Amino acid sequence: MHPEWLAESDEQLIAWVRSDLKDLIGLRGEPELTRVVRWNNAMPQYHLGHRQIADQIEHEVAALPGLEIAGNALHGVGIAPVVRTARRAAERLVRPWSSDPAPLQRDKSTATSS
Ligand SMILES: Cc1cc2nc3c(=O)[nH]c(=O)nc-3n(C[C@H](O)[C@H](O)[C@H](O)COP(=O)(O)OP(=O)(O)OC[C@H]3O[C@@H](n4cnc5c(N)ncnc54)[C@H](O)[C@@H]3O)c2cc1C
Repeated sequence: MHPEWLAESDEQLIAWVRSDLKDLIGLRGEPELTRVVRWNNAMPQYHLGHRQIADQIEHEVAALPGLEIAGNALHGVGIAPVVRTARRAAERLVRPWSSDPAPLQRDKSTATSS
């Protein structure tokens, strides 16, 4: 995270993004439209004790068959942990109807890590 970048001009931010996109995917040419939106303080930070609260919530949800929870309120706010909690929830939901004990493990290669 680089909160100081929010103080940069729109032109500078657009130039950085264009440079990154050029390196990443070879994007060239002039954009037809650019729009800069500054998301100040957009990444939430968990409070101390969050892990115990999340564990307790999951423990209580586990006692309710057919109910699953997932998302950035549990074990990380980035996309990777969100995907992980969603996969686990989906896996538990389909398990009663599946003969395969770990149906979603098969395409593990597509799972994100971190
Ligand atoms: C500006 C910004 C930049 C980010 N950048 C990154 C990044 O670079 N890398 C990274 O890993 N993470 C990033 N994140 C974090 C990550 O994107 C989020 O934590 C993640 O997408 C949250 O996923 P989620 O499924 O928990 O929630 P959401 O993606 O918020 O999904 C919740 C869904 O529930 C719907 N919903 C809400 N209430 C109801 C209701 N009552 N009934 C029905 N539907 C409802 C909403 O419309 C929404 O579609 C960023 C977040 C923000 C805001």
